Amino acid sequence: MIDDTLHKAIDAELGSKRCRLRFAKQLEARFEEDTQRRRSHMLVVAGMIAIPIYFLFLVNDYSFRAEIFIQILLLRLAGIFVISLPIFWLVYRGVSPIMREALMASIIVMTMLIACLVLSASTTPFSYFDVFSFGLILVAGNIFFPLRFSYACLSSALSILIMLTFVLDYEPMPREAKDLALLGIFTTTLFTLVTNYRLERSERKSYLLVLREKIRAGYYQKDNQKLSQLSMTDPLTNIANRRQFDSLLATRWQEAGEQGACLGLMVVDIDYFKAYNDYYGHLKGDKCLRKVAAAMQANSRDTDLVARFGGEEFVILMAEATAASARQAAERIRQSVEALQIPNVGHSSHSVITVSVGVATLCPSDGLTSADLFAHADAAMYIAKQQGRNRSWVADTDVLLSSANAIN
Ligand code: GH3
Ligand code: MG
Ligand code: MG
Repeated sequence: MIDDTLHKAIDAELGSKRCRLRFAKQLEARFEEDTQRRRSHMLVVAGMIAIPIYFLFLVNDYSFRAEIFIQILLLRLAGIFVISLPIFWLVYRGVSPIMREALMASIIVMTMLIACLVLSASTTPFSYFDVFSFGLILVAGNIFFPLRFSYACLSSALSILIMLTFVLDYEPMPREAKDLALLGIFTTTLFTLVTNYRLERSERKSYLLVLREKIRAGYYQKDNQKLSQLSMTDPLTNIANRRQFDSLLATRWQEAGEQGACLGLMVVDIDYFKAYNDYYGHLKGDKCLRKVAAAMQANSRDTDLVARFGGEEFVILMAEATAASARQAAERIRQSVEALQIPNVGHSSHSVITVSVGVATLCPSDGLTSADLFAHADAAMYIAKQQGRNRSWVADTDVLLSSANAIN
């Protein structure tokens, strides 16, 4: 289900005043998917805890009906090893939700049946006291496991039916004791079923609230990612903006210092762009800026950062650059813009849009900062302008005062 639809379905369930526990179809499927594993494990753990408690009743068997103790022991062991443990194993491995609840409910019914068989096989005085403890079986199914509400109702009804069949015909039990025991079991059933309903309702409500929060957190995360992307992007050219450049320059400078690598930086300025704007207007000027930015991006490595520095000036930050690779890259960028062949009649009838590129490489060392790298590349760009534009210049970073060598 998509998040929006799911969100609406959750709100509808939370706002619903109906007593029905099951969610609408798709949400119910999601609930099962999210909780099935945990629930299966929880049911099996509860079952394993119930086994030793169940065996405590052997003490009672031994003191009330020692003459048939071995038969009772075998019957109880069969119930555990032939029915309960295989069911726990199946549930732990994972079965459908219907199967899981039905199998667990069948353990409750089987336990009641065994209890009744033990009772009917025994004729010793006070054996009927057992009936007063039958309600515990329903406490286990409805509260200790607890089964899902509909299965709790079903297993309670079947257990009571079995119990009535055996107990009503059990002659050694006085009528008054039967009345009292049955009343106790009926009320236990009612109390435990109401509690079971409330437990399942609150489990389902908590699930919905947590799921809704998770979806909301997902929205906020997406919004934050979008905002952070926007704050780092130049809206006109859709490439990185100065903020992203500043932040990455600082990070890469530090990394290069740690790894003993060098950084390359180009400062690129469009030639005679004022004349272009004056002649074609600002909207065409904007379009030209977008084309130049796209060309530079397309002719840079994936690891390079192409950013609009401001106006018609761009910067390209190159990781792991050498003087030779930076020189080649600067020339490739210059040629890629010239190759666009965007006429700039505003400047002269034969000219096209070109760029002047200043490039510098520097290896971080004591006393140098990323500002030095920028200053060298910027100074080289101004020399490229002075030397006639549409050219790239490499700053001589050996000498701090930038003297530059012409490439072309
Ligand atoms: P030079 O070769 O010396 O760089 O000359 P230039 O005309 O390119 O330089 P100048 O600094 O004189 O002009 C830059 C022009 O860039 C001025 C301004 O109109 C234009 N410009 C700056 N930002 C934008 C923008 O976002 N859109 C448009 N259309 N034009 C811009
Ligand atoms: Mg400029
Ligand atoms: Mg310019």
